[in-house]
This record gives sequence, C-alpha cells and structure tokens, in this order.
Amino acid sequence: MFAELPAHASELKQRLARFMDEHVYPNERALLAPPPESSRWAPRPLALDLMREAKAQGLWNLFYNHGPEGQGLTNYEYSQLCEVLGRSLAAPELFNCNAPDVGNMEILAIYGTEQQKQHWLKPLLEGEIRSCFAMTEPRVASSDATNIETRIERDGSDYIINGRKWWVTGAPSERCKVAIVMGKNDPTAPRHKQQSMILVPMNAPGVRVERALSVYGYEHAPLGHAEVVFDNVRVPAENMLLGEGRGFEIAQGRLGPGRIHHCMRFVGLAERALEIMCARAKNRFAFGSTLSDMGGVRQAIGLSRCEIEQARLVTLKAAWAMDRLGNKEARNEIAVAKIVVPTLTGAVIDRAIQVHGGAGLSQDFFLAEAFAETRFLRIGDGPDEVHREALARFELSRTA
Ligand SMILES: Cc1cc2nc3c(=O)[nH]c(=O)nc-3n(C[C@H](O)[C@H](O)[C@H](O)COP(=O)(O)OP(=O)(O)OC[C@H]3O[C@@H](n4cnc5c(N)ncnc54)[C@H](O)[C@@H]3O)c2cc1C
Repeated sequence: MFAELPAHASELKQRLARFMDEHVYPNERALLAPPPESSRWAPRPLALDLMREAKAQGLWNLFYNHGPEGQGLTNYEYSQLCEVLGRSLAAPELFNCNAPDVGNMEILAIYGTEQQKQHWLKPLLEGEIRSCFAMTEPRVASSDATNIETRIERDGSDYIINGRKWWVTGAPSERCKVAIVMGKNDPTAPRHKQQSMILVPMNAPGVRVERALSVYGYEHAPLGHAEVVFDNVRVPAENMLLGEGRGFEIAQGRLGPGRIHHCMRFVGLAERALEIMCARAKNRFAFGSTLSDMGGVRQAIGLSRCEIEQARLVTLKAAWAMDRLGNKEARNEIAVAKIVVPTLTGAVIDRAIQVHGGAGLSQDFFLAEAFAETRFLRIGDGPDEVHREALARFELSRTA
C-alpha cells in the first residue's frame, strides 16, 4: 500500500484537478440547481457540453478497466482520482463515472453477452444513454434481498416481469433507456438461487415511472430516484443476465467497486468541506475574535482532519485489497469502508455546516446537499447494520 501513483494515473489526476477548477466549480451551482418544472427530467445542455469536453480531453470512463474504452486504472489508482472528482456532487456524471451507470456498466462488461454489450454497454460507455438498477421494493425489507418479490417468469421465448420497485436511481431521466431488474424466477429454488437479473428497456410496454422520490427534499433532477412499476412487461429471453437464478452472484460482483467509489467521493467532499470550514472560520468575527480563534471551532477542525485521514485510509485499504485479492475476498475491507466512511465524512460536513451558521444550510454552499448524500449511504447499498452483521459473522467464525 501507499505506492506512488504510476505516471499515467498521476498525469490523469492532475488533468482532472485542472478540469474541476476550470469547468466544474465555476458551473457547479448551475449544474445542481433544480431544473425548471417543464424540463425537469431532460438533460441539461450545460452538462452535455461539459461531458463532451471531458471526453475530448480523455477524462472519460476513468473507472473502467475492462477494455480500451477505459483508462486501465486499478481500484487503488482510480480511488485517488475518485477523491478529486468526488469534491463536487455535479462532477461524476461529467466524466461518465456516476452511479448507478458505473455499476451497470461493470455488470454488462463482466456478465453480459456480446449482443448485450453491443446493445447496451457500448452506448453507456459512450455516454449516449443512461441506465438504472431496480432491486429495492416498497413492500418488503430489501436490505435482505432474498425478500425481493418481483416475478420474472418464462413464457416461450420471452420473460414476463411483474413487480413494483422504488428508489430506482436514474429512472426518471429522459436519457435512461434500460433497467437492470432483479426478481424471482423460481420461488422454490434454494434461497440464494431464486433471483435473477434481466435487462428491461425503459420504453417496453408496461414499464411505468410512477413518481419521483426526494432525499431530504433534494430531487436530484434530471437524474432523480423513482418508484417504478413493471406490469406484464415482456422482454426476449436473451435479455437474461448470466442465467436464471444467478442474480445474487451478479449482485456480489457489482456492489464492491460501487461502494468504494462512493466512499472515495465522500473523502473528496469532506476534504473540500474542511477547506471551506477553515476559510470561513478565518474570515468571520464574533464576540471579539475570528471564529478560527475559538477553541470549539479549532477542536472541530482538528477532529475533522483526523476523521478524513481515517476515512481515506480504510477506503484505500479496501481498494488495494480488491486489486490483490478480488472483490469477494476483499469483502470485509469493503464492508469496513462502507460502514465507516459515510459516518466520518458526514460528521465533518456537519461540522462545516455548523461553522457556516445559517449559510451552511442554504443553497449558497454545497454542504447541505453533501450532508444528505453521506446520510443516504448509511442506508443505500445496504444499511450499516447489515454490513456490521456480516463482519460480526466473520469475526465470530474465526474464534474458537
Ligand atoms: C438515495 C437512494 C438511492 C437508492 N438507489 C437505489 C437504486 O438505484 N436501486 C435500488 O435497487 N435501490 C436503491 N436504493 C435503495 C437502498 O439500497 C435500500 O433502501 C437499502 O438497501 C435498504 O433497504 P430498505 O429501504 O428496504 O430497508 P429495510 O430492509 O426495510 O431496512 C430498514 C432498517 O432495518 C434495519 N436492519 C435491516 N437489517 C438489519 C440487520 N441485519 N440488523 C439490524 N438492523 C437491520 C436497518 O436499520 C435498516 O435501515 C436507494 C436508496 C436511497 C435512499
């Protein structure tokens, strides 16, 4: 661990930081402001322009290491770039590095057939379309994915899908053209062999995006999250991913890298929060001194530095373990990062809000939305308790 970045990755990181300075921060408010009601789910021309620019500069598909469309970076290397682009909530999409598309591209690259890759992976890698991942359901506790009730039933040369999903990130966007849907094809099979994943075009008859969901009031349009109904949706059998009953196998492969990417982006957000916390504290006067001269604020700053270092180290260790051992063998390191990082970075951002006073809660700073984002990850991709339970099982299993 702690190896210097190789020249290629280091040069990419510098160019990425320059792009953030020149194009992302100056446009951040415009990129994150709620769009007009009439074009809520339409792509923003500014975002499309910046995507073209990032692509032209070769700052594209930085996460992808399954072929020449990406940059060939290891998880350890990409994590360090992810920290840079994670500094702004507006940035990941501009580099084609946003959730859930990244995870879906990973699935298609690893488990997709040639035909599935041509049809869906290619345009996703080009940034021409977007995708969503539909697993969670309102009716059942979905942190236990064996509960998922959506049915995927074979009918001749097709499958028919029936179910209700929610928290489907990206589904409301006009650019979202395909969903990866998880559902049961055989409720009588052993518990972890009942679920499959299948590709469903968003324009297939019977797919209905019923309503958008907000996070602490943030709608995240034009990407957004939605409740989606699959009502007798018919897709050809070749849309099945990997094979019937192999949904859990795919879920395992998908979630490792995605979790680490979230964590590293949060380290970037927290680092930026600490920077503006210090700047604000030095320039704000109260009760005869600057805020930065007050003991409580100084403690907040020192503690924040400690927590960012902890968050970065556990994430880099997980990325390093994934490179050396594979996603499955690195699952404990991934779980530790997934539990620890949103809490630590959320605490840093919360302190930055406090030091900013009312301004910290307003739309004038990125802090309020960043806090909501870190809070979401204590539930999204599996709640903290589920990951702690998995760690406990492992620790107990190796104690006589
Ligand atoms: C902003 C956002 C985006 C999302 N994007 C997507 C997406 O794109 N696609 C998708 O499919 N899903 C998505 N999700 C859904 C997310 O993954 C689920 O909310 C999560 O897995 C938890 O499932 P649940 O909401 O059904 O909670 P439940 O399963 O009902 O769990 C509720 C609570 O029970 C407790 N609990 C559960 N298990 C245990 C345990 N073993 N021990 C102790 N306590 C426990 C925890 O406190 C947990 O928070 C998203 C969620 C959010 C908020």
